[in-house]
Amino acid sequence: MTKIALTIAGLDPSGGAGIIADIKAFAAFGCFPTAAISSITFQNTQGVFGSESQSAAAIRGQVIPILDDYSLDSLKTGMLPTREIIDEVAQIISQRGLKNIVVDPVVRSTSGFDLIDNSALSALIERLFPLADLITPNIPEAERISGVAIDSEQDIRDAADVMREMGARNVLIKGGHFDRSESNEREKKAIDYLFLGDDLLSFTADYHETTATHGTGCTLSAAIAANLALGKDLKESVSIAKRFVNEAIRTAPMIGRGNSPINIKPI
Ligand code: PLP
Repeated sequence: MTKIALTIAGLDPSGGAGIIADIKAFAAFGCFPTAAISSITFQNTQGVFGSESQSAAAIRGQVIPILDDYSLDSLKTGMLPTREIIDEVAQIISQRGLKNIVVDPVVRSTSGFDLIDNSALSALIERLFPLADLITPNIPEAERISGVAIDSEQDIRDAADVMREMGARNVLIKGGHFDRSESNEREKKAIDYLFLGDDLLSFTADYHETTATHGTGCTLSAAIAANLALGKDLKESVSIAKRFVNEAIRTAPMIGRGNSPINIKPI
């Protein structure tokens, strides 16, 4: 039986991040990809130069016909730039009883462009966190959302506690952005921390010293959503997705003049 996954996210026309990365990740796991565009961004591997948000009506207009036609197996959200879009997405999830929801709380691009405004961020927390099976912040996102400055594993636990008090059931904090300026154990490893109910699980992979990381966060959350669609549980989905992204970073082609996109293909 074909499994169908939907991404509601931003379009990166240069193909590295956003819905193009999501579609590639869905397809790599054999899921049938569907996609709704929340924002058209203007970017390449060197930076994000602007964006044009879609209206709430455009989100509903794209998503409802998909749901009227297909039975959806999972949903991943990426860049949701405005409160109106977030309210619309939350309403659709509730009205249609959608399952296997992964929310990637996209805040800012690596190059420093704000992909969401403050009012939208509070809507994301209030409306979408409680509906998500998993949220997947990286460290800068976890810091911005929780208000906890992260410099240690204890800080990661504290930030996760804050996000769970905000309504998130399960939280994956991605450790790839740890400060590696000091030489320590973390230097050689990329560790992700999964707060699953009352359990804490960590997933460790080799850290690759590279600038080819464009689209990493998008791909990870999409790969998790794909595996949930295939019927895997959260723990296994995260574990498979982490290995998938690590391999995509390791084998990334050097294209473009900036941060090269990772290599999203079946393992
Ligand atoms: N563009 C879009 C549409 C995104 O969704 C994201 C991140 O989720 C980015 C850009 C940022 O990607 P990066 O931080 O890899 O530059």
